Amino acid sequence: MSTYTLNTSISYLKGVGPSRADLLKSELGIYTFEDLLNFFPNRYIDRTQFFKINQLQQNSAEIQVIGKITNIKTVQQKRGSRLVATFRDETGFMELVWFRGAKWIKDTLKLNTTYVIFGKTTHFNGLFSMPHPEIELLAEYKKSLRTAMQPVYPSTEKLTNKGITNRIVSKMIQNLFEEVHGKFAETLSDSIIKQYNFISKSEALLNIHFPKNQDLLTKAQQRLKFEELFFIQLQLIRKKLIRKSKIKGYNFTQVGAYFNEFYKNKLPFDLTNAQKRVLKEIRKDVGSNAQMNRLLQGDVGSGKTIVALLTMLIALDNGFQAALMAPTEILATQHYNSLVELLDGMGVNIQLLTGSVKTKQRKLIHEQLESGELHILIGTHALIEDKVKFKNLGIAIIDEQHRFGVEQRSKLWRKNELPPHILVMTATPIPRTLAMSVYGDLDISVIDELPPGRKEVKTAHRYDANRLSVFKFLRDEIEKGRQVYVVYPLINESEAMDYKDLMDGYESISREFPLPKYQISIVHGKMKPTDKEYEMQRFVKGETQIMVATTVIEVGVNIPNASVMVIESAERFGLSQLHQLRGRVGRGAEQSYCILMTSFKLSAEAKIRLNTMVETSDGFKIAEVDLKLRGPGNLMGTQQSGVLNLRIADIVKDANLLKMARATAINLLTVDPILANPENGCIKIAYQKISKNSTIWQNIS
Ligand code: ADP
Ligand code: MG
Repeated sequence: MSTYTLNTSISYLKGVGPSRADLLKSELGIYTFEDLLNFFPNRYIDRTQFFKINQLQQNSAEIQVIGKITNIKTVQQKRGSRLVATFRDETGFMELVWFRGAKWIKDTLKLNTTYVIFGKTTHFNGLFSMPHPEIELLAEYKKSLRTAMQPVYPSTEKLTNKGITNRIVSKMIQNLFEEVHGKFAETLSDSIIKQYNFISKSEALLNIHFPKNQDLLTKAQQRLKFEELFFIQLQLIRKKLIRKSKIKGYNFTQVGAYFNEFYKNKLPFDLTNAQKRVLKEIRKDVGSNAQMNRLLQGDVGSGKTIVALLTMLIALDNGFQAALMAPTEILATQHYNSLVELLDGMGVNIQLLTGSVKTKQRKLIHEQLESGELHILIGTHALIEDKVKFKNLGIAIIDEQHRFGVEQRSKLWRKNELPPHILVMTATPIPRTLAMSVYGDLDISVIDELPPGRKEVKTAHRYDANRLSVFKFLRDEIEKGRQVYVVYPLINESEAMDYKDLMDGYESISREFPLPKYQISIVHGKMKPTDKEYEMQRFVKGETQIMVATTVIEVGVNIPNASVMVIESAERFGLSQLHQLRGRVGRGAEQSYCILMTSFKLSAEAKIRLNTMVETSDGFKIAEVDLKLRGPGNLMGTQQSGVLNLRIADIVKDANLLKMARATAINLLTVDPILANPENGCIKIAYQKISKNSTIWQNIS
């Protein structure tokens, strides 16, 4: 009997040893037998087919040939030497070549013994050669666990350089299976396995590493992907259930004078049905004795701000304070200004706290917050500094969530005895599949309807060469009284090139639109906040017709009279950024336009992005395309969540499995919330192990 368990350090595995163990740890994060077992191939090569040498084709993929080495020679070259072996089968001969490790390899090769070689061939002067082939004695080849579908494991340059080839990794895993006799604890219940007709855990692990055939490989993949998604969902849903049952929240029992007065006498328009529905969902949450943790998704311009305001008024009606946090100073200031205007005459004390608020004013805010005189505080992340203490914060609303990390969200919790209700608002539509895995522990509301009378923004793609006609179009629009944004990419704040582009652009626009007829604002990240605000205000008031800016204006800015958005070097922006920028226009009654300027040279991906923008304005459709193009790991706001470091499943491609996994997890926890039923014992053990190591929302709970 072997004494090894899955927790045994990888350095004890046959074929590993201390120096390889160090590499496995540093390069792949593999510490134990179990880590190696769960290190899955990312593709498979079909090794059912053997080629004869006279069948070889130029430009062929990886191929394998059976034959014998009949001659070995060392060829001197400028630096070091190369080893060349003649390899023959009954149809002809080819060369095997090694540029590195020639001396060592030479000693291991046997003449006139049958080998299987595998690799890519090159072709020169009628002769095929295979550099650095995988080579194995036919006798060994037949014995090894490896089968038709050869696994290819992810690797790194360092591993390859240190000689840890794919074959060696595969061999290590083979040793592991031998040590532990290929038996692994089951992690799913009988009923789930039956329900989906899954293969057992042991069979799945064997076939993911050493697939017997394509069918078993597919079954192994299905089972392991499901399992991975299932345990994530189990964690997220359990967290949600625990939060709902255990984490008490302030109970907002009534809707009172503030809300009613505003709703009846101050609301400048009728709410859309979607806004009403969301408001109902929020009211139900805040009146339920449990803490609300809700994500409010709504496309740009869908009217999230008014929902936030009404929610804050409910808090006030119940004697609580409210906070609204925005990602940029400009946006916080704009929220502040518009809320002050909306709440005029209602006796609500509302203040703005940002990095540039002066010490004296800041002190006043701190005092009023602690005494409870201050009702609503709006600001940037200055709101969550430790010095800022509320008397009784009842709700915190976070606008444009993707800019804030989980860590910041959790900070808001620590300000009172009970956690405030949390409403996270985002204009970056998150595809449902992604929302399920990343935000599975939040409740989700969606405003899926724009306020009435909005005209769709007309979007066009123009090449830089047509700039003059674009300028003419801008002049015509300005003539009609409209205002125009011209946005430059600023991918990297420290990129001097980007500022140069911006300044060059500003100069050429200044020439085309000369003073005094035209006034131009400019806003970029290197300006002082007060200067930014001054320039912004000139544009808001209509004193300037053109706003030249970097992406600092990306988020939330609301200027209804601005009806043209020109995006320079549009090929350099991501889809969600383009969509956000376009959302700055189309907010007033006039027809609005978005013009995407690019050079002629466009990558295939850039073309897809531009076409998508021209064809649709549906934020969810755009988000789906974005997800497909970039993969989930790159979507904003998902990096820190840890949820997306999936080993085998793919949120986009395995969306159906994800739905299955989620439904199964919900069913299971509904029937057996603490996994007490012996039938679910193996799920419980696996769950406990996974959640102990998991980083999902660790910062919050
Ligand atoms: P976002 O969801 O992007 O934050 P805002 O809250 O800034 O959108 O709203 C965009 C614009 O739509 C604002 O000018 C706002 O006053 C207006 N608005 C919001 N809701 C309605 C509605 N129900 N009817 C008409 N206009 C509305
Ligand atoms: Mg907004």
